[in-house]
Formats: sequence, C-alpha cells, structure tokens
Amino acid sequence: MNSHPLQRYIRDIPDFPKPGILYRDITPLLANSAAFQEAIDRMAEPFFNQQVDVIASAEARGFIFAAPLALRLNAGFVPIRKPGKLPFERNSFRYELEYGADELEIHVDGVSAGQKVLLVDDLLATGGTMEACCRLLEQCDAEIVGCSFLVHLVQLGGEDRLSPYPCHSVLRYD
Ligand code: 5GP
Repeated sequence: MNSHPLQRYIRDIPDFPKPGILYRDITPLLANSAAFQEAIDRMAEPFFNQQVDVIASAEARGFIFAAPLALRLNAGFVPIRKPGKLPFERNSFRYELEYGADELEIHVDGVSAGQKVLLVDDLLATGGTMEACCRLLEQCDAEIVGCSFLVHLVQLGGEDRLSPYPCHSVLRYD
C-alpha cells in the first residue's frame, strides 16, 4: 500500500459486500472538498497535455469522478449504462462474469469515430468492468487515450486486461 496523503480518506470495510472481501470505501474522500478536488487533479494529471474530446464512464461510482474530470480537461461527458437506462438508440457490449453475464450500453451518438476518449472509474479491481467499456468504445471506433482510476487493487491483475491502453491510478494497494 502506498502512503499518498489521499489514502487516509479511503476507508477499509472488511467482509463487504460479502465475507472475505475487503471493500475500499471512497465516500470519506467525496465528503471532503479538498480531498475530492485533489483526487480529480491527480486523476487528470497525465492527460493535461493531451487532447481529450470525451470522458466516458460506467455507472454508478465512475460518474462521480467522470463529470468533474470532464470539466477539468475541457472534455464532454458520455455515460455508459446498464441495459434499459439510456433513452436513445444504443450500442451494447455483453460480457461474462464469474457467475452469469452483464451488459453495458452507450448512445450511438455518444462518441464519434476517431474521437479521443478517456475512460474513468473509481476503482480498478479485476478489470472486467473497464475492459467491457474499452470494447464498447472500440465498437464506436473511438480512439482510447487511456483509463484513469482513483484506486487500483494491483494484485487482481486488472491492468493486464486493459493493455495496450495507458492505465493511470492515484492510489495503489499491493
Ligand atoms: P472490476 O470490474 O475491475 O473487477 O471491479 C471494478 C468495479 O467494481 C468498479 O466499477 C468499482 O466501482 C467496483 N468495485 C469493486 N470493488 C470495489 C471496492 O473495493 N471499492 C469500490 N469503491 N468499488 C469497488
């Protein structure tokens, strides 16, 4: 675990949502305006000097970081959502989970071919969620400039699933 000053705003909750899982709770960070602002700046940092047209992010916690990051990087925000939530025509990507399958959707006009997209989420664990987002954006012929996270649980190997895209995280837990 690193000793970044923001780390003290992440609360560890053992056995949530089920026994054996150590949940990293980001809500104390969100509740502190200076910490929240610092988190957004640090998540944006590697991308300040790159063109980013759009920030895309999957519900729900990703949205919390994606919207302020979009404003910080002078980019638009495009939501990626679970089926049945987006009102207009959609592209979708179905992916396998440990038990069953899930699906993510994006509006067909959310991202145009060739647009430079930064993907954002609060936390990278196995990488399944972000990999699905990448596949969805690839279907839109977007150019993925990278993925930015507040927290990265390094031992779960998520970064490998996101190659070849640059992966940035502020807080790493080994
Ligand atoms: P992955 O798909 O990488 O296995 O899991 C990442 C997704 O699950 C993220 O969207 C994140 O919001 C959620 N998630 C998984 N574990 C945690 C955790 O310990 N804390 C938080 N805040 N979110 C988690």
